[in-house]
Amino acid sequence: MKAIEALHLRCMLPLSITKKTLFTHQSPTPLSSISNPQLSLTLSSSQTATVRTRAGWFLGLTKDNNNKKMNLPDTVKAGDPVLHEPAQEVDPSEIKSEKVQKIIDDMIRVMRKAPGVGLAAPQIGIPSRIIVLEDTKEYISYAPKEETKAQDRRPFDLLVILNPKLKNKSNKTALFFEGCLSVDGFRAVVERYLDVEVTGLDRNGEPIKITASGWQARVLQHECDHLEGTLYVDKMVPRTFRTVENLDLPLAQGCPKLGPW
Ligand SMILES: [Zn+2]
Repeated sequence: MKAIEALHLRCMLPLSITKKTLFTHQSPTPLSSISNPQLSLTLSSSQTATVRTRAGWFLGLTKDNNNKKMNLPDTVKAGDPVLHEPAQEVDPSEIKSEKVQKIIDDMIRVMRKAPGVGLAAPQIGIPSRIIVLEDTKEYISYAPKEETKAQDRRPFDLLVILNPKLKNKSNKTALFFEGCLSVDGFRAVVERYLDVEVTGLDRNGEPIKITASGWQARVLQHECDHLEGTLYVDKMVPRTFRTVENLDLPLAQGCPKLGPW
């Protein structure tokens, strides 16, 4: 039981946003439940903590960040030009170089440490067209089932894609909250295509093609946007923008409903 708790807490720490949330999570006393008008759910105190993960990836917190100690690059935050300018193609003949391989390894470590489900090289200050993404059963288990089902969120193995080219494969879209390690502490609703195809090179320089739908398609679009210097806030439904603490408040009148269309 202890081990499960420890694992849970360790995972929740970066997701929990505030010390208050952590305290809430640890408190032996049942605390007031919160009601979520969007999901019509009433959550227990431990679920209050897990609901913070609702926006999916990107849950990292700089406050507890000890990247320096781990010899990891910091996550670059909104405002740094590297996040607002197009990134450069990676020369295929350099993919196997120590330099590029180290960038990829650093990106994977930064993403997993955050933890997040995707990262683009500009987010560690490197203006190169490289993305990494991964979603696990464990991350998904921290979000309400109703939500992950609506989002069509399923685990997928680590993907490393260099020079990705993204195509949408249908005109079907979905609106859900998302966030970003470079805009931490906030969420907003973004409309994304439901079916995409990404071609590019893997970390050995071999061509790859990924066909994705649902949440994975969203992550791919979010990460590919980074390579164009586009953050989700450039595409969000503006009046849905909010702090993580306010994630469960209802959408303002006039906002489009969440869900696939
Ligand atoms: Zn991002």
